[in-house]
Amino acid sequence: MCGIVGIYDRGNINAANAAYYSLVAMQHRGQESAGIAINNDGIITCYKDMGFVNEVFDERILGLLKGDMAIGHVRYSTAGASFAANAQPIVVKYKNGNLALSHNGSLINADLLRSQLEDDGMIFSTTTDTEVIAALIARNYKGDIVEAIKNTMEIIKGSYALTILTDNKLIGVRDGYGIRPLVLGKLENGYVLASESCALDTVGAQFIRDVRPGEILVIDETGMKSVDYINNLPKKICLFEHIYFARPDSIIDGISMYKARENAGRILAKEQPAIADTVISVPDSGTPAAIGYANESGIPFSIGLIKNRYVGRTFIQPTQSMRELGVKLKLNPLRDNIKGKRVVMVDDSIVRGTTSKKIVQALRDAGASEVHVRVSSPPVISSCYYGIDTPNIEELIGAKNTIEKVRQYIGADSLGYLSIEGILAAVGSKGEGFCTACLNGEYPI
Ligand code: AMP
Repeated sequence: MCGIVGIYDRGNINAANAAYYSLVAMQHRGQESAGIAINNDGIITCYKDMGFVNEVFDERILGLLKGDMAIGHVRYSTAGASFAANAQPIVVKYKNGNLALSHNGSLINADLLRSQLEDDGMIFSTTTDTEVIAALIARNYKGDIVEAIKNTMEIIKGSYALTILTDNKLIGVRDGYGIRPLVLGKLENGYVLASESCALDTVGAQFIRDVRPGEILVIDETGMKSVDYINNLPKKICLFEHIYFARPDSIIDGISMYKARENAGRILAKEQPAIADTVISVPDSGTPAAIGYANESGIPFSIGLIKNRYVGRTFIQPTQSMRELGVKLKLNPLRDNIKGKRVVMVDDSIVRGTTSKKIVQALRDAGASEVHVRVSSPPVISSCYYGIDTPNIEELIGAKNTIEKVRQYIGADSLGYLSIEGILAAVGSKGEGFCTACLNGEYPI
């Protein structure tokens, strides 16, 4: 769960500023640390720290980061602990120069590769899988950076979208399954690579296309060059990006996140109808699906929960007690719309059940006569090893419990989930093209 960006600009915008605004637009993808590496005439410098993008950077620091190529990163740790040394971008020095790298995704063979490299005498300064990628690229470099990346892609297994900065190039890479997203945009005098298209909108870049699974995209003073290095694997983009993670105003591989979620809500209304007076959402991620549910069912949509916009995403809190406090801090029922009503509460997903349990109780306290929970995705039953934070199967309420047990736990009058067929139909898929491991345990790697 990270957001990455790469800026190449030969005009007069400051690459660090553009990276900064892109990261602010993708703050939802990671709130633990932020960083920018900049290339100024072949010299790479990096500034990174723990915190939100606007806490890490101020005008003074941005003013020091001068250059026309930059990469950036916002991080939520899924591999490697949460501390400052593990913040990204990672910068490595090697025989022929410097290299900075931002990574979204998670390798499944990082521990093995790291221990092999350590046996060969390599010293690591972080505990991340990203440093393993950087080390392999540096080690494989024999004068041609694209060859070094290709050799690295042969060895690493898992999900990765990368932006890489060398002495004179910006490079974007997406793994052969395309599990994590990466888009390409055009600036007046350059290019932007970003995890989500909402970042392009923010910096005024025009969307060109998604980076293809297995593609290496090299941008330098000669222009842009594409190498489709791995093109024999089935596409497996993470369906959880569509369910929850990406911003609703982003478009990934031609699919609008808003539309996908609204569709999911419509299909949910058909699959899991309810008799009720009002449909409310768990803001913000549940809102498009709730609107879809309301439109399809004819039950009026209303605002039932007010969100404190100054609190981060609940789930993105490392401990359970912080998570529970997080729900209360973040969401408060709007009594006027709840009291005496039969309420359908739509959320995009139930992971541990913390959010639903707290909210159902809060809605009852606010006078709801019935609370029917509808979820616009199937139960999350398996851990993700490709970069979404659902690490421990023991904590997944859907993994070991029947739907009736989950209903009892969250205290709802009824509970209904969208089917796998329903969520695939919502994103326009006939069953292929997506990684659904967290929903059905079918792991592509
Ligand atoms: P939980 O409270 O553990 O059941 O988590 C579900 C809530 O967190 C829902 O409101 C989702 O919008 C949100 N959510 C679901 N998956 C994730 C995730 N991987 N990271 C952060 N938040 C999530």
